[in-house]
Amino acid sequence: MSTKDWLEKDYYAVLGVPKTATPEEIKKAYRKLARDLHPDKNPGNAKAEAKFKEVSEANDVLSDASKRREYDEARSLFGSGAFRRSGGTTGAPGGFDFSDLFGGGGTGGGGGGTRVGGIGDLFGQMFGGGGTRTTQAGPARGRDIETEATLDFAEAVHGVTVPLRLHAPGVCDTCKGSGAKPGTSPRRCPNCGGSGLTSRNQGAFGFSEPCRECQGTGSLIDDKCKDCKGTGGVTKTRTMNVRIPAGVSDGQRIRLKGKGQPGQRGGPPGDLYVVVHVNGHKVFGRKGEDLLLTVPVTFPEAAMGTELKVPTLNGSVTLRVPAGTPSGRRLRVRGKGVGKADGTFGDLLVTIEVSVPQKLTEAARQALAAYSKAMPENPRSALEREASRG
Ligand SMILES: [Zn+2]
Ligand SMILES: [Zn+2]
Repeated sequence: MSTKDWLEKDYYAVLGVPKTATPEEIKKAYRKLARDLHPDKNPGNAKAEAKFKEVSEANDVLSDASKRREYDEARSLFGSGAFRRSGGTTGAPGGFDFSDLFGGGGTGGGGGGTRVGGIGDLFGQMFGGGGTRTTQAGPARGRDIETEATLDFAEAVHGVTVPLRLHAPGVCDTCKGSGAKPGTSPRRCPNCGGSGLTSRNQGAFGFSEPCRECQGTGSLIDDKCKDCKGTGGVTKTRTMNVRIPAGVSDGQRIRLKGKGQPGQRGGPPGDLYVVVHVNGHKVFGRKGEDLLLTVPVTFPEAAMGTELKVPTLNGSVTLRVPAGTPSGRRLRVRGKGVGKADGTFGDLLVTIEVSVPQKLTEAARQALAAYSKAMPENPRSALEREASRG
């Protein structure tokens, strides 16, 4: 349990006792709750189990006189605003941003100097409970980066290697991250002696807080580096060739493991996420791994059957249209669709559309009239028979 937990949890409320409760009252409240919430009494009840843990944790602190005192101190300090920033804009001398503390040393902007640890460390030092427990930030995983790529239809189908421009925070090359103008270097902060922390007494209670002079960095920069304005960090643009696998679809977010920001101090790199936009195709549609294509045929072709040459994404194939194919029928050409992850391919689905001529030559009109005579059966006669039957 960290001291940060202490600030977030109201153990008195958990046990349902007032802040002025005697040790006896606390013990009584805890025993009753522990009995009611005991896992043996509530088998399989996750809610009761969680509550049981909470109650035990609250009792651990409040039943121990010295822990309870520390807990009370921490909460009253926090509530009194002793740790709030004292005005001014973020990073301005004299003010310090409380949110930096909660950030927990993830991606500090300043490359050089000591960084103040998370709030847990601060309180750990304050209460002296953990001695001089100062957690050294260990290897940190690099950040994930997200970017976008627009692909042509065929590129998305076959996969493609694209150059991506990535913008990510990096160390300033001019000052090597120190934030100081080349030829100069940051000097140790005289106010805190380079530790980044200053002690303050409040009543009988002494505690450390980040140095206001150097904002907890432990060093002061007299001549700031022009390129990074003293921060030691700059936004870096790098171009990376990235292989987009075959078969991605529009709007898909693909993850490229380990292609994000490099890790710090030997930590693993982050991941790169690429949101893919796929341009439409003039001819083909796409549904998952299948390609869609609509092919017009004449009425005689549909009625008597034919062989069509249809395009695919690589070359064309011959498609047999059987005699008597109705308009709207879908014919499947296996394996001519989009590549799948397992190395197989989707299909090409060809929709046959019987096209009706808008204009007829005289010869065609006569031929159609003759055809009508030769085919006395009206396609609606079945419908008419059914309708008249009621
Ligand atoms: Zn710089
Ligand atoms: Zn300082």
